[in-house]
Amino acid sequence: LTTDTLRDSDNRAIPQLDSPMVRFQGVHKSYGSFTVLNDLNLEVKANEKVAIIGPSGSGKSTLLRVLMTLETIDKGLIEVDGEPLTHIPRNGRLVPAPESHIRRVRGKIGMVFQSFNLFPHMSALQNVMEAPVQVLGLGKAEARERGVQLLDMVGLGNKLDHYPSQLSGGQQQRVAIARALAMRPKVMLFDEVTSALDPELCGEVLNVIRKLGDEHNLTMLMVTHQMGFAREFADRVCFFHQGRILEQGTPEAFFGNPREERTRCFLSAVK
Ligand code: ADP
Ligand code: MG
Repeated sequence: LTTDTLRDSDNRAIPQLDSPMVRFQGVHKSYGSFTVLNDLNLEVKANEKVAIIGPSGSGKSTLLRVLMTLETIDKGLIEVDGEPLTHIPRNGRLVPAPESHIRRVRGKIGMVFQSFNLFPHMSALQNVMEAPVQVLGLGKAEARERGVQLLDMVGLGNKLDHYPSQLSGGQQQRVAIARALAMRPKVMLFDEVTSALDPELCGEVLNVIRKLGDEHNLTMLMVTHQMGFAREFADRVCFFHQGRILEQGTPEAFFGNPREERTRCFLSAVK
């Protein structure tokens, strides 16, 4: 593991501009004797869109959850935007970082879950404004402006004052996307965000993700069962199996000519 910061001739730290936006190095995670992430390595470039597919229980959600620091890892290193997520270099070694460091680095990441998890007692706009006000200390007026703009972007400009119970699943999920974006993340994680939706509501959510990809400089990691969407949207597809990436490639190569028997078997089962 590299812990040394690169330095110029005046001993100033050189920002590592070409370092990936997200990097997993030898990441290991177990629950008891069950290994969920098994020596996982993954580098995602800034602005890259990565689709993560694979059988249930292969560790896809755990990958996103450890990146969001919702779970800890047992071994390895996770870096975000050139910095270790949970550690800082000290005297040439990595030591556990203070909570303030973890909060700051994690603040570059937004996540949307399968279950939308909106605050039920808050309107759509209040849901989107909440974290910018509470966490970023943004003024109410500024947070409102940001919230209105984002809800407009996801096609809900006319539903600002609706409560989650008054919205369809697809609309709630779009509020959840706007809420994550309100924190201005560099990286967005999507975990099966259409799985809880009726098929006719999936399209409106996928369209919002598509639009985000087109209009914003966002790095995206997306766990999905929607092979059609992965094929069309992702720059790269990673196939998870037993806590590691068994096979990956461009959508053309991956879907057109999968190398591994397990991948072929999975793809023929989901099609
Ligand atoms: P996927 O998203 O690919 O379906 P997950 O990352 O959710 O897989 O989980 C991988 C495995 O880890 C599953 O078999 C699951 O039962 C197990 N697992 C996940 N979370 C926990 C937990 N908190 N405690 C024990 N086992 C867990
Ligand atoms: Mg999962």
